[in-house]
Amino acid sequence: MKYSEMFGKTTRNGPKDEVTANADLLTRAGFVEKLMAGVYTYLPLGLKVLNNISDIVREEMDAIGGNELLMPMLHPKGNWVQTGAWENVDVLFKLESRTGREYALGQSEEEIVTPLVMSRVQTYRDLPLQVYQIGWKFRDELRSKSGLMRGREFLMKDMYSFHEDQADFDRFYAITKDAYLRIYDRLGLVAKVTEASGGAFTEKISYEFMVLTDAGEDDILYCDQCEYCVNVEISQLQPGTVCPKCGQGTLAQARASEVGNVFDLGQKYGRDFGMGFTDRSGGKQFPIMGCYGLGISRLMGVVVEKFHDDRGIIWPEVIAPAKVHLINLGNSDDIREQAESIYRSLRQQGVTVLWDERETSAGVKLKDADLIGLPYRVVVSARTLGEGKIEVKPRTDEEVLIPIEGLMSYLTGVTS
Ligand code: ATP
Ligand code: MG
Repeated sequence: MKYSEMFGKTTRNGPKDEVTANADLLTRAGFVEKLMAGVYTYLPLGLKVLNNISDIVREEMDAIGGNELLMPMLHPKGNWVQTGAWENVDVLFKLESRTGREYALGQSEEEIVTPLVMSRVQTYRDLPLQVYQIGWKFRDELRSKSGLMRGREFLMKDMYSFHEDQADFDRFYAITKDAYLRIYDRLGLVAKVTEASGGAFTEKISYEFMVLTDAGEDDILYCDQCEYCVNVEISQLQPGTVCPKCGQGTLAQARASEVGNVFDLGQKYGRDFGMGFTDRSGGKQFPIMGCYGLGISRLMGVVVEKFHDDRGIIWPEVIAPAKVHLINLGNSDDIREQAESIYRSLRQQGVTVLWDERETSAGVKLKDADLIGLPYRVVVSARTLGEGKIEVKPRTDEEVLIPIEGLMSYLTGVTS
């Protein structure tokens, strides 16, 4: 991709009424554009990041037997009335058509997935089963000033599992928990797992996956020695007390962002829709269901909160929109030709590259590279070209001079 041809360039100003670094940096670096509070356009660079995160999530969900599908976002009112959510879910967006019919925009999809799956499940032999999707969710959130971290329209991975009994849900929950922790780990994040009371409709336990960040909206107490963590909202514990789990560490309080959530839904939804299956003794049972949310666009915001400095974003390589930010300083024929040849050869070898080939000042180009935050900056300039060298700078490390022909092996970490 050439910078001059790219739609969505760096801009001087961040969005109004936003307090977080992610909103400011992602806007100024040309990744997103705010349409209104909680609603963003993903520009080409931003969409690449979103897709890269989605790919990691998809890989891990497929690896535990998730079946990917895509359910509608526009829902008939009836499904939501049947579960009580039409009246009780305050964030539900409701629409009326010109013929007076009413609809909901999906804020989560138990109302759709339960009849969908259970109409295809006859006996316990059809279980367990888990389906998931990566899709947009709509919520009438009251406050939406945290950039991508609290959208009114946001991208979520939501998975739903169906089990013949509680023990099988517990088995699958443990598997999903590991998959979630792998996802956060691949993004360079450390997630703590809290136990919280369930949502509005269930007495059952739920689990929240929390990443420590001051831009988050949850207060948690976490153990400084083990993975134990609780939400302050529900806990009797105080900061400074000894960890009830390991007995070694001390509980500290911090702000965190919820990047995933698991609910044990019990039999509620099967019962609401009157949809069951024939169990092992030939009787009728409602399935035990689990739902597993993971905030993909929120994660993009959290990654920026965690990985940036005063100059810009520092993308983890696995989700960066490109690996290399190539810059030619000066536009003499030999410099431009050399940069072009590096650009071509990187692309041929499958290395993603953004080439800033503008005829603009070195200061502007270097500043933009830091703001955009790709993992490696490669500079072709008169200063080093005479010796057949280029300058390579990892985003958070010192620059090094390497021979042009050594670039590929440098980037792939091969030392031959
Ligand atoms: P929160 O307490 O932050 O409102 P929630 O408990 O309402 O989250 P869930 O309904 O479990 O969240 O949704 C699953 C996941 O979707 C959350 O863990 C979070 O990562 C993400 N998510 C929830 N609401 C939003 C939002 N408004 N904007 C972006 N991501 C969200
Ligand atoms: Mg919420």
